[in-house]
Amino acid sequence: MPKRLTTTAGAPIADNQNSLTAGPRGPVLLQDYQLLEKLAHQNRERIPERTVHAKGWGAFGTLRITNDISKYSRARIFSEVGKETPMLARFSTVAGEQGAADHERDVRGFALKFYTEEGNWDMVGNNTPVFFIRDPYKFPDFIHTQKRHPRSNLRSPTAMWDFWSLSPEAIHQVMILMSDRGLPQTPMQMNGYGSHTYSFWNEDGERFWVKFHFKTMQGHAHYTNEEGNAKIGETREGYQESLYGSIEDGNFPKWRFMVQIMPEKDAEKTPYNPFDLTKVWPHADYPLIEVGEMELNRNPDNYFAEIEQAAFSPSNIVPGIGFSPDKMLQARVFSYADAHRHRLGTHYEALPVNAPKCPVHHYHKDGAMNFMGQQSGVTDAYYEPNSFDGPAEDPGVGEPPLRISGDADRYNHREGNDDYSQPRALLALMDEGQKSRLYGNIAAAMGGVPQDIIERMLAHYDKVSPEYGDGVRAALAG
Ligand code: NDP
Repeated sequence: MPKRLTTTAGAPIADNQNSLTAGPRGPVLLQDYQLLEKLAHQNRERIPERTVHAKGWGAFGTLRITNDISKYSRARIFSEVGKETPMLARFSTVAGEQGAADHERDVRGFALKFYTEEGNWDMVGNNTPVFFIRDPYKFPDFIHTQKRHPRSNLRSPTAMWDFWSLSPEAIHQVMILMSDRGLPQTPMQMNGYGSHTYSFWNEDGERFWVKFHFKTMQGHAHYTNEEGNAKIGETREGYQESLYGSIEDGNFPKWRFMVQIMPEKDAEKTPYNPFDLTKVWPHADYPLIEVGEMELNRNPDNYFAEIEQAAFSPSNIVPGIGFSPDKMLQARVFSYADAHRHRLGTHYEALPVNAPKCPVHHYHKDGAMNFMGQQSGVTDAYYEPNSFDGPAEDPGVGEPPLRISGDADRYNHREGNDDYSQPRALLALMDEGQKSRLYGNIAAAMGGVPQDIIERMLAHYDKVSPEYGDGVRAALAG
């Protein structure tokens, strides 16, 4: 026997085929509450899509610790070798809307939520170790260049290259975007990076700066522009198909989780600003240390509930993991949680996919859709301090002081930065085929861009290396 169909209020439904009408030819009666409820729900099926990272693909899995890093971090997730923590991953493109094709050249989001015993830790990264800008003041401007032109309602290569040519800090990330790694074949065949510098702190209150890396164990695989376009001709949903299909088939994708660790005092000595999001820490200076293995092994049962409503935020850290002076990180700590309150509502963290798997006790009250009631767990304890045994702070999880000092000012973030050496180091890693595809992809993306903007960009490439500038010039001419 199938379950009995009901309204949302639980009343059994006798007829789910026909509207309630005054005679077989109509009209419909206003009192047909079943019909009204059905139409009203349809009108509310969509929620605001994310302004960036609108199209995503996700799955659940496990992080297993394979190496003891407890001397760097007291985070419970790292407490013993062999420990397993359940997690969720959501991959995404950045610029395209929810209906965009998966195989477009774009940076990919790489967002992870670890349900640890001391709260959720979100590692909200990308498949690139750096970003286009280093000062969050420019973030809305940058995203406007990636989105549609207000008049044509088309994406504008002129806007993109104009902004990049006026923002030398973008050259490193634009290079990765235009290289082979800018168009991965599937979400399983790319690395993930925390990109920002975060910090670790241990039981003794010592702080270390840290970068997070998730290295694909499937191997890197990319499409050329031509292959990507052909793929889009076959399917606009290639990432969803490959991730979902692979997990359904029992082929669980894996990533090696690694960190780079910088002693706190080193930050005063490095020739580059270690908190600059447009820079990596060279591996020769700060080698990768293995931490664990991440495996995705369960598809969501309901895409909307578990992936569209998944809310990742860099503000979700746990004792043993902290922030750093990275300006972009501070802005994201505000901006991501704010986006979710707008998109999902005040109590978005209580939705099952976002809810921690550890006890949650707080004194926030009421608000739209509060279905949890009083979260202090004690009826009379709805403020703090109180005499009714309500939840209380635990000084034992206090973070050691973040040693930062300086004069408040609007510092010119483009002054005194070397924006060219790290792109030069990346060029040196590329073989001739990779270089030629890089130059070709840049030239193809510059179609229709005014010559003065192209010249400004070529001047940057010349500063990286004359080989780079000449390579792009030749590709533009060809
Ligand atoms: P290394 O040779 O020690 O490390 C190179 C890193 O670059 C590896 O993580 C590798 O990733 C990645 N890489 C290799 N080829 C490419 C490519 N064609 N496109 C993008 N990434 C690639 O050098 P350094 O640490 O001194 O870094 C040199 C340059 O490499 C940097 O300026 C940066 O542009 C790039 N890079 C550096 C990273 C870092 O954290 N240091 C991370 C990623 C890129 P994999 O092992 O997965 O193949």
